[in-house]
Amino acid sequence: MYYKQYGDTDMKVSAIGMGCMRYDDADVKAGNFEKCAEVTLYAHEKGINYFDTAPFYCDDKSEIITGIALSQLPRDSYYVSSKTNMGTVGGKATEGDYRKRLETTLTRLKVDYLDFYHLWCVLSLDSFSKQCDALYGFFEKAKADGLIRNIVFSSHMQGNELEDAVNSDLFKGMLIGYNALNYRFRQTGIEAAYKKGMGVVVMNPLGGGLIPSNPDTFRYLAEGTDLTVPQAALNFVASHKEITITLAGCTTKAHIDDACKAVENLAERPASEIYKEYENKGVALNNLCTGCAYCKHCPKDIDIPKFMDAYNEKLLGNNLHDRLKYHWQIPASMAAECISCGKCETLCTQHLPIIERLAEIAG
Ligand code: SF4
Ligand code: SF4
Repeated sequence: MYYKQYGDTDMKVSAIGMGCMRYDDADVKAGNFEKCAEVTLYAHEKGINYFDTAPFYCDDKSEIITGIALSQLPRDSYYVSSKTNMGTVGGKATEGDYRKRLETTLTRLKVDYLDFYHLWCVLSLDSFSKQCDALYGFFEKAKADGLIRNIVFSSHMQGNELEDAVNSDLFKGMLIGYNALNYRFRQTGIEAAYKKGMGVVVMNPLGGGLIPSNPDTFRYLAEGTDLTVPQAALNFVASHKEITITLAGCTTKAHIDDACKAVENLAERPASEIYKEYENKGVALNNLCTGCAYCKHCPKDIDIPKFMDAYNEKLLGNNLHDRLKYHWQIPASMAAECISCGKCETLCTQHLPIIERLAEIAG
């Protein structure tokens, strides 16, 4: 395993972290938690020492499963992270409610403290400042009481907004969605965080499954290597000097092996160098939907991720209408129900022109 320094701390973390949100669905439903935990233990055996979980992942069982695994390991042999935000506790939550939520997380994970606690899923600068106002005091108190070691945030904001969040100087690190599809959106953010000595953890390195499911389009990532396309996509992210940890969502031990292979011969380079190389190859894939589903709050109940997935097919040279008809089995005419309220575009993590695309689909 390749290890990196987490920002300006003395923590040595594995270049691949385990995203604990992909435990086997059937096993989770059947209550086979010990079996799921074996994957986490295997990851640790392979040198992975960073485990990222949250309430609600895997039918709200991820923290419990991860705790079963971590309780079998020496506490100083791993780092564990979880998350909270104003939506996690709900209603008009008090500081006491957030504290209770944190204590539940600690109990489930069977630990006395979290190494990283995230202000979770900040979608805009406005939400960033509101959530900081409401919750930062709670985070600081939890840190002073020894329940958390590092205060970090997770976000889908784009680069310049991320830069503003970084410049608040409130956080030790950040977790962002970053991959070979959307890298240019987040460039300034990761560079600013690196300069500040913050750790940068990346989620969604495979673009919501879009990269593995379109191996021909993304073959360029693996050119000149012995890596598969998904491994090369992980390597693409992990090789950024500015990025500390690349999270791989692993369901099986084979997924762990795949992820470890991706960083076997890692060569770290600055983002600017990587971008130049990719842009020389004529790669311009920032306009694809990653299927993150953050836009799923449409007042007209339009299933936007499915429509945008179909639009991806068009951009990748395939048939948009076939995708809608045979794969998703939804009529293209539904796209005409859009009232252009703009809600989805505000939420879209890829900043896609959803309204324009729906109009095109509706014809
Ligand atoms: S702009 Fe259209 S698709 Fe987007 S949320 Fe509003 S009605 Fe739904
Ligand atoms: S349209 Fe945007 S927010 Fe919705 S799934 Fe795609 S990338 Fe995510």
